[in-house]
Amino acid sequence: MGWTYDPTNIFARILRGEIPNRTVMETPHTLVFHDIRPLAPVHVLVIPKGAYVSLDHFAAEGSEEEIVDFHRTIAKTCAILGLSGEDGFRAISNTGDHGHQEVPHYHLHILGGRPIGRMIE
Ligand code: IMP
Repeated sequence: MGWTYDPTNIFARILRGEIPNRTVMETPHTLVFHDIRPLAPVHVLVIPKGAYVSLDHFAAEGSEEEIVDFHRTIAKTCAILGLSGEDGFRAISNTGDHGHQEVPHYHLHILGGRPIGRMIE
């Protein structure tokens, strides 16, 4: 499976510091920032700093260090933002055309702070 990364996408520009973001936390491999159009009281995006198009690309070609860092960063983000298994939250990765992915840099949406419902658009 081949993936072609477009370095002009908006998250690549955020990572290069060309446009601002509201950072929640950052590690050497991962950035977490608030979604510009939040759909819930908490709506953040977790992205790897590497040039990965989508979840399947990251899962296939991300290094173990990047993949572990990404998921540990999710745990730290949940702690920072007060999300827990008790009240719950939702994590979503829109992928490709059928998944309605708008930004072609892998990102995980984390939504919480209210009941999210069965699906989101
Ligand atoms: P998706 O690609 O459909 O999964 O969603 C892309 C998400 O990126 C949307 O929820 C947008 O609101 C969000 N987004 C687009 N541009 C920015 C930005 O500059 N900062 C933060 N979030 C953004």
